[in-house]
Amino acid sequence: MSNLLKNKVAVITGAGRGIGQTTAFLFAKEGAKLILSDIDKEPLDETVSKINSSGGNAIGVVCDVTKKDDCEKVMKSASNDFGTSSIDVLANIAGITHDKMIHKMTLEDWNFIIGINLTGTFNCIQAAEPFMRQAAKEEEDKTGKIKTRSIINISSISAMGNVGQANYAASKAGIIGLTKTVAKEWARFNITCNAVAPGYIETRLTQVRKEGEDFGLPEKQRQMVSTMIKETGLNRELGQPEDIAKVILFFASDLSSYVTGQVLTVAGGMMGTI
Ligand code: NDP
Repeated sequence: MSNLLKNKVAVITGAGRGIGQTTAFLFAKEGAKLILSDIDKEPLDETVSKINSSGGNAIGVVCDVTKKDDCEKVMKSASNDFGTSSIDVLANIAGITHDKMIHKMTLEDWNFIIGINLTGTFNCIQAAEPFMRQAAKEEEDKTGKIKTRSIINISSISAMGNVGQANYAASKAGIIGLTKTVAKEWARFNITCNAVAPGYIETRLTQVRKEGEDFGLPEKQRQMVSTMIKETGLNRELGQPEDIAKVILFFASDLSSYVTGQVLTVAGGMMGTI
């Protein structure tokens, strides 16, 4: 442990699986007090108990990020469970795909993805306001200084457009606008807001799509990704959740305390940057 997040209270959404879960493990190693959330109780409970049984400090709150009340309940755990009215780090990682070509995409398909990825991120930032922006104001009134707090959102290289992902690409492009706006509005309170734009990372979302499943990539696209890695990517296999978690850690820690409003592409060189 190098204690990059020692004593920091960090909220992570989508912490039951994939990038969110790996980020939770890394943050725990770095000494954070964790408020973890996911829509699914079972994987969330597993993440929490793995962290606590290896000496970390985590609590889990089931939350559907499309529901404002759920997001508020997550943030209130800072005071209810950790006895503090301040959150240091908010990592908005919950997100999902539901791919279809635009001529086949229904309004429900569109709203479903915008609701989780974009509105979900907005809901969590708003729900965290009393514990981040308001907490910073109170700190300044009391001490004349404000510590750095950070928000990290997850965009995607698909924000630049990707076949079959009109809904997802729009949600991830929207996250860039949201990130840059919050960065400007809350800079005065020493709250940084940055986004990570992952390339193809090995999780449930990028496995070869099985019959009847919503997630995953068609076999042909998965092969195309392998070709791109060979031709222009770093000399490695597909990116791993750890590759993204390490960059989220950078934005969550004081290493990036003078960086805000940025979008960092993390795609191993296999794709252009945003
Ligand atoms: P996973 O599917 O492995 O993890 C996503 C997590 O988010 C799951 O635990 C899921 O819960 C949870 N979630 C889904 N819907 C909601 C909701 N409404 N409220 C709260 N939690 C929810 O995917 P990844 O780890 O790959 O994705 C993490 C983030 O990274 C997403 O924002 C994704 O868009 C982004 N990303 C991923 C890339 C990749 O290549 N993997 C590339 C670019 C961006 P449940 O299991 O119940 O569905």
